[in-house]
Amino acid sequence: MADFRFSDIDQQILDKVVEVGNSTTAHTRYYEDHEHETPPARLEGERGFEEVFPLFGQRQPDDTPMMTFMMAVSIARGSASGVVRGLGLAMPSGRASGLGNAALQSAGTPEQKAKWGDLFLAMSITEPGVGSDTKAIQTTARLDGEEWVLNGDKIFVTDGVKADGAIVWATIDKSAGRAGIKSFLVLKDAPGFELVRQEKKLGIRASDTAAYAFRDCRIPRDALLGGDETVPKGGGSASYRGVMKTFNMTRPAVASGGVAKARGALNFAIDALAEEGVSVDWSQSFPQRSATQQKLIELEADTEAAALTVLHAAWLSDKRRPNNLESSVCKAKGGDVCRTVTQGAMEVLGGMSVSHDHLVEKYMRDGRISDIYEGTGQIQRLIIAREILGYSSEELT
Ligand SMILES: Cc1cc2nc3c(=O)[nH]c(=O)nc-3n(C[C@H](O)[C@H](O)[C@H](O)COP(=O)(O)OP(=O)(O)OC[C@H]3O[C@@H](n4cnc5c(N)ncnc54)[C@H](O)[C@@H]3O)c2cc1C
Repeated sequence: MADFRFSDIDQQILDKVVEVGNSTTAHTRYYEDHEHETPPARLEGERGFEEVFPLFGQRQPDDTPMMTFMMAVSIARGSASGVVRGLGLAMPSGRASGLGNAALQSAGTPEQKAKWGDLFLAMSITEPGVGSDTKAIQTTARLDGEEWVLNGDKIFVTDGVKADGAIVWATIDKSAGRAGIKSFLVLKDAPGFELVRQEKKLGIRASDTAAYAFRDCRIPRDALLGGDETVPKGGGSASYRGVMKTFNMTRPAVASGGVAKARGALNFAIDALAEEGVSVDWSQSFPQRSATQQKLIELEADTEAAALTVLHAAWLSDKRRPNNLESSVCKAKGGDVCRTVTQGAMEVLGGMSVSHDHLVEKYMRDGRISDIYEGTGQIQRLIIAREILGYSSEELT
């Protein structure tokens, strides 16, 4: 039975995560404004997460399962004012922590994991003309002797500047649709690879977003993730499905980032209003509350509900049960709630909320992406509809 109440030690860890996360608050604005600078491995005044690790040793087998708990940690960490998304993304959080690493782990062969597992890998699917409809990938890969030759353009590669390389989607047979799509590990030093530019963005500015070009880019034959060079007739390939499965791991993580920003913005609003003498008295009945107090309660409920969808998707993963539906539910809900709660926090704060002196406008700007990348809210709803109604992706597009 699922039970998402945290044990004492779990709660202690979550509290410590926030405390440590707040230690980088002083740098949040600097790296936001200087997005092309990579923060040093350790910021001045930064307390390390090694403070948290010993507490993990005190966890017992019947505490919250690990993936579920890591989502709670992610929400706690991302809500900390020092780790407002953007700066959090830009900080070196472990070498092999890119989105491409999740793809390598879920679709790579044991040899590929051993060979590349320590690298920091971005994920490169999106192209100038291809976003949500990933089966329309135009980048091509052609086998030439013992090398693949890649040609095409990619945009919006998170961590694309600082990563060692990327998992790149390309088609080996355009006529085969999604069955022809494979993913390749491309390192930055591959001949024909070019880092074209770094995007300037509305939010998560401290996280780099790159554009790539591949011009007769040559990579070794064994760089095809999963190693399957066949193009099955009539349907998706195992390779394509393998990498799509990655999303069931990464969508809860991305959703947790959205919930974290909602939580952070709401905490900011609660604290700022408390300083002005406005806080929620939970014992009061509805008619006794002010509009602001009622609004805070609604924002709290939305944030908590979204957090529970994230924990549920992760819990199913912990239990090795399918979580395709729940991953999309939490991604859709996390994105929605991030947008509505960060804006709600601004609403109750009024004019001060737009000031650069406070973090709440940053939560709102950084949060906007939660509903776009890793599959937009509309695409999540399509997946949810397919799962509930039993349609395939060909039947419901
Ligand atoms: C900061 C940032 C970081 C990113 N990081 C990465 C990354 O690391 N790797 C990567 O590969 N990509 C990345 N992306 C790309 C991101 O995943 C895409 O932007 C996203 O998938 C949407 O694609 P699109 O922008 O082409 O929009 P489109 O697909 O053109 O969609 C435009 C609008 O139409 C809606 N829409 C599209 N199709 C349907 C449909 N069938 N039914 C209903 N509505 C639909 C969408 O929901 C959206 O509202 C990133 C993007 C940004 C902005």
